[in-house]
Amino acid sequence: MEEACELCHRNPVKTTEHHLIPKQHGGTNGPTAVLCSACHRQIHALFTNEELAGFYHSLERLADYPGMKRYLGWVKKQASEKRIATRTSNRKKR
Ligand SMILES: [Zn+2]
Ligand SMILES: [Zn+2]
Repeated sequence: MEEACELCHRNPVKTTEHHLIPKQHGGTNGPTAVLCSACHRQIHALFTNEELAGFYHSLERLADYPGMKRYLGWVKKQASEKRIATRTSNRKKR
């Protein structure tokens, strides 16, 4: 589907559905957000499912995280058709 991403607000972008509470944590029927694949991958690169379920289950909280803010400032300047490479943060590799 092509529409606006709820996090970076680029438009139109190919979007995917993100479960704000991961399915593994009971979020199967919970709220979802419509995200471009770059934002979606970035979220899962920065946060574990436990962190998503425990605190980062709203777009406001996700967008407020420093690593996410930095990413969003950058990605907004990228053309929506561009493929964006996501690097897994060192935090998560711990
Ligand atoms: Zn996005
Ligand atoms: Zn997701």
